[in-house]
Amino acid sequence: MIIYNSLEEFNSVKHNLPKLSFVPTMGNLHEGHASLIDIAKKTDNEVVSTIYVNSLQFNDKNDFINYPKTLDMDIELLDKKGCNHLILPDPSILDNIKSIKAPIKSTKLCGAHRPGHFDGVLTILNRLFEIINPHTVVFGKKDYQQFLLVKDFIYEKKLNINIIGANTIRNTNGLALSSRNILLTEKDKTIAPTLYKTLKDIEINKVYLNSEYLKTKSDYLKSFGFKVDYLISCDTESLEESYNINNNDLLIAVAAHLGGVRLIDNLVISKL
Ligand code: AMP
Repeated sequence: MIIYNSLEEFNSVKHNLPKLSFVPTMGNLHEGHASLIDIAKKTDNEVVSTIYVNSLQFNDKNDFINYPKTLDMDIELLDKKGCNHLILPDPSILDNIKSIKAPIKSTKLCGAHRPGHFDGVLTILNRLFEIINPHTVVFGKKDYQQFLLVKDFIYEKKLNINIIGANTIRNTNGLALSSRNILLTEKDKTIAPTLYKTLKDIEINKVYLNSEYLKTKSDYLKSFGFKVDYLISCDTESLEESYNINNNDLLIAVAAHLGGVRLIDNLVISKL
């Protein structure tokens, strides 16, 4: 794997490279990230990844400062997975960067609790897309809203990029793998899987789906010590709140804090 210590370094060699599949990350890599590299490898393109903790998408300064950093281990994992190129953008990535205003969909779900978050995400991705010029990009559907906004962005800007959405990789106890999981206390690690169990429970009981039912599930999570940002049932494209499971698949999405660690998860439940 070739490592580039700035976007400029990569930019100077990119004209010699074949088609690329791109997996952006913020590092502290786990099997979820590894699965995205596996998917990218299957495209027949060379695979490029980035590790960059994007300050623009953090509205909580402590969350940014505490974001786990494990560069040596990350390099080892990417190399083992057969990633061909790793770019480690230096702070000059922000120089004269064009700010992107995310569309209205960005103000729902996570965006309602993290103002400006998706503007920051799209601003950095737009810059990375410009420099890397990928043929394909792979994003995890654990960050469902992010996946949707990037998909819409590519479509709106008529970028010539294929986007692949990857399924969420979980622990055996159901907890979605996340870089933030290592910040959980031992006790909270036993509580955190309740998020996914609750989503599965909602799926099993989908004939009863309505706002009161979700409120009981949200209260259930609170009884375990979760501070719930949202637990919502919504349209899988518009993210508008919806309970119409007769005609459409629905996205059940949750974000909750446990001991100061923000966790998200979701499940698409199929129509009746
Ligand atoms: P991050 O490093 O958190 O910015 O994530 C980088 C990419 O990995 C994003 O596309 C995430 O959606 C994806 N990702 C994170 N966790 C998982 C997981 N548990 N399963 C699949 N993809 C994931």
